[in-house]
Amino acid sequence: MVKNIAVIRGDGIGPEIVDQAIKVLDKVAEVYGHTFNYTDVDMGGCAVDKYGDPLPESELNKCLQSDSVLLGAVGGDKWNSVPGNMRPEKGLLRLRAGMGVYSNNRPAKIWRQLADASPLKKSIVDNGIDFIIVRELIGGIYFGEHKTEGDVATDILVYSEAEIERIGRIGFETAKKRNKKLCSVEKSNVLDSSRLWKKVMHRLASEYPDVELSDMLVDNCAMQIVKNPAQFDVIVTENMFGDILSDEASQITGSIGMIPSSSLGATSCGLYEPIHGSAPDIAGQDMANPIGTILSAAMMLRFSFDMPAEADAIENAVSAYLDDGYRTADIMSDGMKLVGCKQCGELIISNLKKA
Ligand code: NAD
Repeated sequence: MVKNIAVIRGDGIGPEIVDQAIKVLDKVAEVYGHTFNYTDVDMGGCAVDKYGDPLPESELNKCLQSDSVLLGAVGGDKWNSVPGNMRPEKGLLRLRAGMGVYSNNRPAKIWRQLADASPLKKSIVDNGIDFIIVRELIGGIYFGEHKTEGDVATDILVYSEAEIERIGRIGFETAKKRNKKLCSVEKSNVLDSSRLWKKVMHRLASEYPDVELSDMLVDNCAMQIVKNPAQFDVIVTENMFGDILSDEASQITGSIGMIPSSSLGATSCGLYEPIHGSAPDIAGQDMANPIGTILSAAMMLRFSFDMPAEADAIENAVSAYLDDGYRTADIMSDGMKLVGCKQCGELIISNLKKA
């Protein structure tokens, strides 16, 4: 297969971690006989420096014309004093809106080799943590009307059936490709929007007979994520609930440098990025952990390119690297072998074989 990938290296550690992910993609292409073409896109602080704009139209268009977008990270102290609409992060918001990516998928997976890094009790971690939160990204209370009149402030939460249905379908489709369990999270005991959410999810369920749908109130879900995370396969929820639950879920896995994410819209063209920022404190020192970006590339293969075996191959190669005791500084512990960003990428490539 031939796929065209827009590549945004961005700022700080962005170029270092993206380079490792590209090396891994090149190895996948070699092993499986694919061709991946890359188009460089400037976004973030580097684009502010070059064009005076964090995401010029021409750069956004390169993303829209691609089969998917791989992003490192943007931002840094250097651009802290630029005007609001020129900030590097504005480029990211413009990119998400421009691509219409309404579904943010963030896996919470603990690698058994890193179980000690979780703040949860060993007995809970030993049951396994491996689920995905599918979060609605461009609707709900964050996008409703916000106003303050005197001493009263109002934020409006609006969801239409159509908005719920499109994110619901992503939830079912994601569960279909995994362990076929979908948990719909809402607050239907209080909110009308949640009652509509629940109704739409149950209507959709008849179209996905192989997926087992359950409902959970968001307050209970927050508790269950720390009490018994092994019960979850895929969680689908609205924007604000997903924002809060996905941060909680990433924390229980222990390390920010390990976690990938995907954002998808109406087409298969998705945006793939690690969940962390540009880490200016370690930029240019070959210290960053590239695994969150490498696993984001694996998500791209799985969700946008329908290449599950290739995605498995990357995840297996990462697991073998951890088995061999190699660790970048952020996840280093006693008895392990310290490696830099580049060496991490090279070791993962050396483990890559057909899944
Ligand atoms: P950060 O995620 O960049 O860093 C937080 C801490 O985690 C730092 O100590 C950093 O060294 C460490 N860290 C992060 N990623 C790592 C990795 N891959 N390997 C090893 N250690 C890693 O968050 P921050 O310091 O709050 O933000 C720095 C800049 O990044 C800011 O300008 C912020 O706006 C931006 N940011 C960008 C994105 C994005 O591009 N999606 C997301 C969050 C923050």
